[in-house]
Amino acid sequence: MSFKIPYGKQFISDDDTKAVIEALHSDFLTQGPRIAEFEKNFAAYIGCKYAVAVSNGTAALHLPLLAIDLKQGDNVITTPITFAASANAARYCGANVYFVDIDPDTYVMSVEALKILLEKHPKGFFKAVVPVDFTGFPVDLEKIRKLADEYGLFILEDACHSPGGYFTDSKGKKQMCGNGNYANAAAFSFHPVKHIASGEGGMITTNDETLYKKILKLRTHGITKENLQYDFPDPSQQGAWYYEMQDLGYNYRITDIQAALGNSQLKRADSGIARRQEIAKKYREAFKGAPIKIQKENKDAFNAYHLFVVEVENRKGLYEFLIQNGIFAQIHYVPVHLMPYYKQFGWKPGDFPNSEKYYKHCISLPMYPTLSNEEQNYVIEKVLKFVND
Ligand SMILES: *Cc1c(COP(=O)(O)O)cnc(C)c1O
Repeated sequence: MSFKIPYGKQFISDDDTKAVIEALHSDFLTQGPRIAEFEKNFAAYIGCKYAVAVSNGTAALHLPLLAIDLKQGDNVITTPITFAASANAARYCGANVYFVDIDPDTYVMSVEALKILLEKHPKGFFKAVVPVDFTGFPVDLEKIRKLADEYGLFILEDACHSPGGYFTDSKGKKQMCGNGNYANAAAFSFHPVKHIASGEGGMITTNDETLYKKILKLRTHGITKENLQYDFPDPSQQGAWYYEMQDLGYNYRITDIQAALGNSQLKRADSGIARRQEIAKKYREAFKGAPIKIQKENKDAFNAYHLFVVEVENRKGLYEFLIQNGIFAQIHYVPVHLMPYYKQFGWKPGDFPNSEKYYKHCISLPMYPTLSNEEQNYVIEKVLKFVND
């Protein structure tokens, strides 16, 4: 048997290919109708009012912070166990990044630790918090909202791992990740390894119309034809061509080609989540009783399972043993506060013990809808062989 099994993988169907080819032969390669269609469909899927498609997930994190005028000297909170972009988005605005340790069992930002950090500083010290639905496990936004209201925080949910995930709030209502009922805005990524692939791509979701309009403008240089200020001597001489650059924005546009792929992939989102659930269930059952710690389940939290992470005593050994057997597991993530770039701000080993301990033992096992039963059996067999030897 010869396998080459990655930890994650995109799936391109014939329908996907057809949709992209149609876009290529249409009048628009970018800024055409497929982008608005993707936004509309994605907003309906998540259950939010507004969605803005952008060039990648990092741009989706940057723009909401830019839209609230985050700037140098402001302070933003995120978690060390995330992709660097969750923190970098605040740095792009010149803001300082603070970290809050993870819960040792669910691996998402600890709400208790967040509360402790907030209490140590005067109200207004922190402008925003960027909690991450790590692995697809939804953070408890209801609790974070309470703190955010008390301390005046903007909540930007990093939902790059969690399209299709949800939590049940205290009123018993299902809250889809990124639906904007508790967070002010959320960011998604359509990098091929994520649930929905568009090549590069991202989406911002929100229920806040003012924020939505600002983000739309900032996506394309801060240029608009709406609410014109006519800082010109004679507005009557301006025609339909006239536009204004009112703010300093970026070119964070997505193309119609990518939106065509994203739209087509979105149609399979539910079956993808269902398959991820099956795979997770099988791993959990297979590892019962083995010396393996598995991410905690919570009845109020439906994990979208972008990743399936476990902790083992000899992580490096397992990682290398799996590679020898054609299984390319991955480590998510090297703690962000220990990156050379972030260490310059004074962060050091020992600052976030749960995150650092998790990092020492964690490994992400193959998790993607097209992982076959045969392949998963093989992964399970190899993992158990290593940890039981
Ligand atoms: C993938 C990812 C991002 C960035 O998305 P890109 O599309 O690669 O820019 C941000 N945060 C998290 C948690 C991610 O997994």
